[in-house]
Amino acid sequence: MTAKSIVAIAKDGSVDVMVKQVFDLLGGAENIIKKGGTVVLKPNAGHHGKPGTSVNTSAKLVGAVARAVRAAGAGKVIVAESAAIGCDTVDCLKDAGIYGEAAAAGVDEIIDIKASKDLITVPIRDARSELTSVKLPRFLIEADHIINMPIFKSHASMVFSCALKNIKGVVQDKVHYEMHKTNLAMAMMDIWSVVRADLNIADLIWPAEGFGPHSAVPMDFGCVLASRDPAALDAVACRCVGLDMGKVSYFENARERGIGATELADIEVVGKRIDEVYQKMWLPYLDGFGAWPEYDILTENSCSSCQSLVAFTMEKLKALGEYDKNSDAVIVLGAKSEVPDVPRERLILVGNCLKRHRGKGVAVNGCPPSEPHVAWAVIDREDQMEIQDYLRDRMAEEEGPWNAYIDAIVAEKNKTRRKNL
Ligand code: SF4
Repeated sequence: MTAKSIVAIAKDGSVDVMVKQVFDLLGGAENIIKKGGTVVLKPNAGHHGKPGTSVNTSAKLVGAVARAVRAAGAGKVIVAESAAIGCDTVDCLKDAGIYGEAAAAGVDEIIDIKASKDLITVPIRDARSELTSVKLPRFLIEADHIINMPIFKSHASMVFSCALKNIKGVVQDKVHYEMHKTNLAMAMMDIWSVVRADLNIADLIWPAEGFGPHSAVPMDFGCVLASRDPAALDAVACRCVGLDMGKVSYFENARERGIGATELADIEVVGKRIDEVYQKMWLPYLDGFGAWPEYDILTENSCSSCQSLVAFTMEKLKALGEYDKNSDAVIVLGAKSEVPDVPRERLILVGNCLKRHRGKGVAVNGCPPSEPHVAWAVIDREDQMEIQDYLRDRMAEEEGPWNAYIDAIVAEKNKTRRKNL
């Protein structure tokens, strides 16, 4: 009989207490961490977001895990990340507070994987995506332990992001691009086949609901989940937040690639029970781009950065009262050899990978473009290049309607939550 995957759930107490609990529930940090070994902590710090925004993994959680592994005998502790395309990793780590917390916790090195020069080409055996090999930094391959530290958040291109998806952040931009040109979910599993984190510790302290990662709404959930099995961790996390796993296609990819268990019959939950911590989260990306049927949105070959931006834009158009009146727009993102033959003012070309088609439509510059530009391209039907200083007033003016729009949705959700208590 195959052993069940164990998923530990801790709730309540300080972050350090919850980290100790999940380690203890999995056998004790001193039994998991090799004495004198090198431990790499891989948080999710892929976007700009201050502490408290839930865009990135809690800095306090990163600090607590760094202290716990050090106390368990780790010789060297590294924090490493490769932020999303177009984002500077070090800036993201600093913005999230992770840089400061890690330094205060005595982390030996904080590494921007994008800047790593010492790379090893690792073949992917039996690849299911078009990735046949991947360049990975030597320090990651030679580490004794990799601890994957995602935050659970609503995500435009993948419905949600947690342990399975966070491994995408161990590759440099070139591989990121390649992953987006093939079956992204399968490419993620192919990366898992060569970078097996031996532990996953997920931030469900203040996970993010809403239109993440651009407009994440922190939710008071108060949990830390941990498991050696990333698929089991994600499967349990989904059940904790009321997400129908059947709507997330990449569990099927994880099963096919043998990454881990997803059925409760194959998982042992220790610590708190799922029903003890259950709270339904607002995860609006369940319908994908079908959520905006009034618009033609062509996403083939696009990266999650541009997908998230366009998904966020659709809601922003609603918040600004511009959604219905602009539904003649055809929004295109991701590299394409052909674009639809429609009048120039109807065609919105999002991002630099469509540069070759500029002139046939309204161009939105950037890789990915700046946040307000897609909405402005749709509203104004004019090319959007750089954010000029005088445009900052417009950005500030749009904040009010957007915040009111999100507050109204959250208030409505909270009413339903209270009814269901
Ligand atoms: S512009 Fe193209 S390559 Fe750049 S993030 Fe967007 S989809 Fe990806």
